[in-house]
Amino acid sequence: MDPAVFKIADARMDEIAEHLDSALQSDQFAKVRQMLRDLTVELRPRYSAELSVVVMIEDQVRESSVPLLQTGFSTTDEGALYRTWDDQSAQRYVVEGHIQVVPASHCPKCWGAWGSKFENRTCETCGLKLGKDCMILLDTDLCPNCEKGTVSMAAPACDKCGYKIDTSVVAWG
Ligand SMILES: [Zn+2]
Ligand SMILES: [Zn+2]
Repeated sequence: MDPAVFKIADARMDEIAEHLDSALQSDQFAKVRQMLRDLTVELRPRYSAELSVVVMIEDQVRESSVPLLQTGFSTTDEGALYRTWDDQSAQRYVVEGHIQVVPASHCPKCWGAWGSKFENRTCETCGLKLGKDCMILLDTDLCPNCEKGTVSMAAPACDKCGYKIDTSVVAWG
């Protein structure tokens, strides 16, 4: 999405997450939590129950949507409940001359699912090609592969995972 649109949505996400967190742990949700535990006890050992609340941004023009926040509960094999957060980070791209921001496992053009962009360089949904039609735009030294180590133009190999930035698919902004 357009960086200005992302900025508006992103600015609201922490507050939404905070309220969802209180709601999910509130007394009103106690019955649902108990039912998830009970269901897992019935389903184990192979299956377990989980619950996710997903906040999506939908684009009426693309007729597609991307998740900005996902949170809920998973259950252990024994039926114990724990809180889950999917804090997938946003990634900036230059797409056909325009800066776009989407969650890292989505296509910046069509918003379709597109994980592991370094390995699979073409979007299966719209055919966008990384390194040709779009470039990953890095404005920090955070490694786009592991999101833990650091990389730079001078030292393109990540100090944590060893991943070497392919400068043919990355633009530094
Ligand atoms: Zn696509
Ligand atoms: Zn790394």
